[in-house]
Amino acid sequence: MVRKMGVYAVLGYILYGLFFYWYLFYFANTNLPFEYEGSKADPSTFLNGRELMLSEEYSKIRNLLFFLSTPFEWLFYFLILLFGFSKAFKNWAENSSKYKLLQTAIYLIWLSFFAYLATFPLSYISFSLSKTYNISTQSFASWMKDELIDFWLNYGTWLIIVPVLYWLMKKSQKRWWLYGWLLSIPFTLFMMFLQPVVIDPLYHDFYPLKNKELEIKILTLADKAEIPAQHVFEVNMSDETNALNAYVTGIGSNARIVLWDTTLNKLTDSQILFIMAHEMCHYVEKHIYFGIAGYLLISLLGLYLTYRIMNWVAKRWGNELKISDTRDIRSLPLFFMVLSMLLFAASPITNFTSRYQETRADKYAIEMTKNPEAAITSFQELTRSGLSQVNPPLLVKVFRYTHPSMLDRISMLEDYEIKHRKK
Ligand SMILES: [Zn+2]
Repeated sequence: MVRKMGVYAVLGYILYGLFFYWYLFYFANTNLPFEYEGSKADPSTFLNGRELMLSEEYSKIRNLLFFLSTPFEWLFYFLILLFGFSKAFKNWAENSSKYKLLQTAIYLIWLSFFAYLATFPLSYISFSLSKTYNISTQSFASWMKDELIDFWLNYGTWLIIVPVLYWLMKKSQKRWWLYGWLLSIPFTLFMMFLQPVVIDPLYHDFYPLKNKELEIKILTLADKAEIPAQHVFEVNMSDETNALNAYVTGIGSNARIVLWDTTLNKLTDSQILFIMAHEMCHYVEKHIYFGIAGYLLISLLGLYLTYRIMNWVAKRWGNELKISDTRDIRSLPLFFMVLSMLLFAASPITNFTSRYQETRADKYAIEMTKNPEAAITSFQELTRSGLSQVNPPLLVKVFRYTHPSMLDRISMLEDYEIKHRKK
């Protein structure tokens, strides 16, 4: 039975992968609808032939990697349970120490280590792909350093969460998901508060804007949006990537707007001001707080469902998966698997709300700067530097896009331009 289940799971994964290969490379039509041909959103008007070909090719492979990665995690956790590795990790942990907390730490290091090994090939392919297409300019050593920081940061976070989680499960078999959720609220807020000042600087250097002339222009804009000036930062990314980006991060007194130096290097001042105005909208309209609230709401439902599903699975396949009791740490791979599945299932909703906020930010930015030419060309440059798809396939948009497609973003701006030209 165990072997059969393993074979079915692997076969299922392969079929799923083949489906997406077919969908992305043969089925999906990413040509523009004819009414957009020749418009400013038409990539053939602002990309050269080589860039056009590369962006299609690169996006297709990236999309495939995206759809392969998450279910690969599920497969990994499933097989770890099925073939008794989880049980083995626990035995190793119990043989190494008699202290409960240390046992959890040892169990967790084995699970994290094997999970990292298993997912490494896909991450490495993804990294070398972006190097091949000249998006990433990071050396392998520097990338590996980031990977190691990631690994230990994740490990550290789970080392705080997991002992509490299993302690709660033992204390209250029926309500642990609720207590766990209540505890996650201050924890999430604390992490969000620390993110820009403690976690992000582990990876990159942050400093106030270097270009003082530009800073004055940005501060004038910030003043108009009623944002305190000390919240604008530049981050050194140019030795790692050619892509452009800007974002809003942190909460409370640590909230800030961050611009990648690549954005500052490649765009003109008026283009940067449009991007800044867009980020300011996120700041002014407190999109991060809505994001946290939405996340907390979804995680309440998610934890409840995890509780129900874990119990159901343990009852139905407890023997095969070697989980006699969900309150035993051996069930952790199941917890990770179910959580990851639920997050994936919820991603169309979270992406949809994010796209709504992004559309608002674009509208705010154009109203603020009133320079559609700069706005449109900045998005065209964003498309070029990231080799992104202007008109992605539907499933890619639904599961992957936190921002509207460039087709939607540029056409919105073009409509604005046409409307205001007539006046
Ligand atoms: Zn945005």
